[in-house]
Amino acid sequence: DGGKRPDYLAGLNPEQTEAVETLEGPVLVLAGAGTGKTRVLTTRIAHILNTGRAFSSQILAVTFTNKAAREMKERIALLVGGAVEGMPWLGTFHSIGVKLLRRHGELVGLRSNFTILDTDDVVRLIKQLIQAEGLDDKRWPAKQFAGMIDTWKNKGLGPADIPEGDARAFANGRGRDLYFAYQARLTTLNACDFGDLLMHPIAIFRKYPDLLKEYHGRFRYILVDEYQDTNTAQYMWLRLLAQRPKGEPQNVCCVGDDDQSIYGWRGAEVDNILRFEKDFPGAKVIKLERNYRSTEHILGAAAHLIAHNEGRLGKTLFTDRSDPDDVKVQVHASWDSEEEARAIGEEIEQLQRGKHLLNDMAILVRASFQMREFEDRFVTLGLNYRVIGGPRFYERLEIRDAMAYFRLVAQASDDLAFERIINTPKRGLGDTTVRALHDYARARDIPMLAAAADIIETDELKPKARKALFDVIQSFRRWQELLENTPHTELAEQILEESGYTDMWKNDKSAEAPSRLENLKELIRSMESFESMRGFLEHVSLVMDAETNENLDAVSIMTLHSAKGLEFDTVFLPGWEEGLFPHQRSLDESGRAGLEEERRLAYVGITRAKHRCHIWFVSNRRIHGLWQSTLPSRFLDELPETHVEVAEMEQSYGGYGRGGYGQSRFDKAEPFANSYSTPGWKRAQANKTDATRDNWGTRSGHAVERIGYGESGPKGRTIEGE
Ligand code: ATP
Ligand code: MG
Repeated sequence: DGGKRPDYLAGLNPEQTEAVETLEGPVLVLAGAGTGKTRVLTTRIAHILNTGRAFSSQILAVTFTNKAAREMKERIALLVGGAVEGMPWLGTFHSIGVKLLRRHGELVGLRSNFTILDTDDVVRLIKQLIQAEGLDDKRWPAKQFAGMIDTWKNKGLGPADIPEGDARAFANGRGRDLYFAYQARLTTLNACDFGDLLMHPIAIFRKYPDLLKEYHGRFRYILVDEYQDTNTAQYMWLRLLAQRPKGEPQNVCCVGDDDQSIYGWRGAEVDNILRFEKDFPGAKVIKLERNYRSTEHILGAAAHLIAHNEGRLGKTLFTDRSDPDDVKVQVHASWDSEEEARAIGEEIEQLQRGKHLLNDMAILVRASFQMREFEDRFVTLGLNYRVIGGPRFYERLEIRDAMAYFRLVAQASDDLAFERIINTPKRGLGDTTVRALHDYARARDIPMLAAAADIIETDELKPKARKALFDVIQSFRRWQELLENTPHTELAEQILEESGYTDMWKNDKSAEAPSRLENLKELIRSMESFESMRGFLEHVSLVMDAETNENLDAVSIMTLHSAKGLEFDTVFLPGWEEGLFPHQRSLDESGRAGLEEERRLAYVGITRAKHRCHIWFVSNRRIHGLWQSTLPSRFLDELPETHVEVAEMEQSYGGYGRGGYGQSRFDKAEPFANSYSTPGWKRAQANKTDATRDNWGTRSGHAVERIGYGESGPKGRTIEGE
């Protein structure tokens, strides 16, 4: 048309351009990591706005996280020169759902000021219902039922829709009635849960076609990022909003990557991608094959790894971002997780000396308990860090609870700690008792624990509460006596056992309970490097005090799951050991499918890196409270020798000297260290009698031999997906 092409289009490759400019009709962009899918979505929105095809309020755009939504808004504002009047319908499925419900909630019986219940509220409510039904809530735990409701809602199933078999699975077939009762109760309370944020709009749109039509008229363009991780309910919601009368185009653009589907455990259906062409007739499917993010080594490693999965759609990926200075993906070995954190800390400091920003570095862990070691180490080093997508280790609920016990043992006047744990786990010492204790203590100006000891001598409390309080006080007296002459880690374990705190989580049926137990074990482990309980408590208060300023240059620490869509110059991937990654739980629960999802998670991890990717594994990790020698992750075996090398060990092992470890520990690490340096590996191979060497020799020894020591393979540009 002779006009000058806007700048934002000039930088795109032909396939990206097509995806941006095909504004009419359904479009599916199916492409690997870092190929510019998100960039296509952003540019597409800018293009729609710039060409005046729609106002910003006529675009519905769904991102996976609120953070991603914010970033997308900023990018769009840049592309269109800041002239965007907000983007009211750009957000996550949940945030858009809230908005719809605030407007139309009355159609499902909600007033516009309805509250959204969190998981705890939901469980409490269900428990009441279970008890009201005369059911035993020990036999039929509320948490379990909350999980079932969540699963049903992810599948878009209301109480009337759930299959007979599922309904029977709970409370001898009364699951369905309970589900009905639960929804009724929510309405009475003018409340909804997270699942309802999708379920209610779906119900409303189905029941009120005229209203749905209004939205069809409003949303001229619909866009969805991370499409591979949508669940059935989200998919139903989307299809309703995307419906158009025959002959009118469905302007829906979804982008995704089947290899990055990592939320199957939460009900995501990767099949949604496969069905797209069927459900949106006339869809144009666009593939992007050029990766703009990562070096050839990083991309090659990731592609080779993911090729071990079956049932992939299969994609080609290549990069032009190769430079003679590019480094291969580095695999490092450490003795244990403390050494791992130390070595990664050194690597980071070295990069920092080379003028790299901490903002460009990330540590991506498989399980959140792994973060603790890094947080501790970075505080010691004075390295700024931020934890993304969750609380910092010592801020977690279970850690705060456990710490409150320790604090109160070490410092009997810590009233905050006292109030936190006096009824955790539940001992029948509720608000009334606490208030009585509070008043008693204030009136006499004594700590609450002392007040408790006094008050049980009076008749101020009911006999039951008095007995419970008596037991607690006895326990604390005992622990206080042990404080001076029992090893503090032993005491800590004893406190958590005897107080019933560990049991509380063991009996908990919620999805988070196992990771909370893992965190508690990690907490005990973290005490080992301190002389005393007091020393440890002091350290933690320092960690808690560490700044987390948004504008600070800081290393990011997060789980692999929350790293989706992000990119960093340097990525550290610690803990690549069997049992941790792939995680034992997902292997146990989902077998082969679980393994493949873990592998996709590994693929997501590696492909976050632009220039440097460091993978770590340790030979000893404390699992279930016991030190175990661990096997390197099978995923290491699956990395290609051409793009991966085993890092030199000297630097890492130098750390032992400086850390003041005993010689014995170093000795134990020795054969292991040798097996990972060229001459040592040969020696290790020649001498397989040593148990440790045999371990490496049989499983990963084989891999190690391949990794880095084979002839370098063909240096092709194209990396085949399958
Ligand atoms: P993921 O699958 O990880 O979500 P993605 O496909 O969404 O990745 P983007 O995050 O959009 O990829 O892009 C990856 C990187 O490549 C970004 O830094 C982006 O700015 C850059 N990029 C994308 N397309 C181009 C292009 N045509 N020219 C230059 N850089 C590009
Ligand atoms: Mg993306």
